[in-house]
Amino acid sequence: MSVRPIVRLGHPSLRTIARAVPVDHIAGPEIQRLVDDMLDTMHDAHGVGLAAPQVAEELQIFVYEGQGIPQRVVINPMLRPQERELAHDWEGCLSIPDLRGLVPRHPAVRIQGLDREGLPLDYLAHGLEARIVQHEFDHLNGVVFLDRMRDLRTLSYLDEWQEFLAGGEDPDDTAVG
Ligand SMILES: [Zn+2]
Repeated sequence: MSVRPIVRLGHPSLRTIARAVPVDHIAGPEIQRLVDDMLDTMHDAHGVGLAAPQVAEELQIFVYEGQGIPQRVVINPMLRPQERELAHDWEGCLSIPDLRGLVPRHPAVRIQGLDREGLPLDYLAHGLEARIVQHEFDHLNGVVFLDRMRDLRTLSYLDEWQEFLAGGEDPDDTAVG
């Protein structure tokens, strides 16, 4: 297992539609190593999520894990919003370092896909987990959180965000993936 470099905004992988992983490749060493490396890379960067395009692999894979949110590996996902209304909260991105912005997201989503064994996943995520999933799913479609912001005036550097905007929120509880 090893930590891979995280590509930043401007790298074409972040603006490319990721390819589905052929099901019979999931158990193979290449995908298994990629998943292990993505988990290592996410932990090393203190993120709560990471999508394969962020390590320059244009494949439909993301991983996440946070405080009170168990580790998940999701391959070839499909998302269905469970509510029409949107909730705004702060997000950051490992590929857009040091910035935070308010992003509208669905408060609950249904996720269908495959796990790292190639077995089917079908579950609901709420709150922070739903936000992380939508952030990572966007990465598979060449979308970053800046594209989702309704008001770019909420964009802030991390230090200024903590000083003026966080309102005591624990930065570790912010969706950064
Ligand atoms: Zn991101």
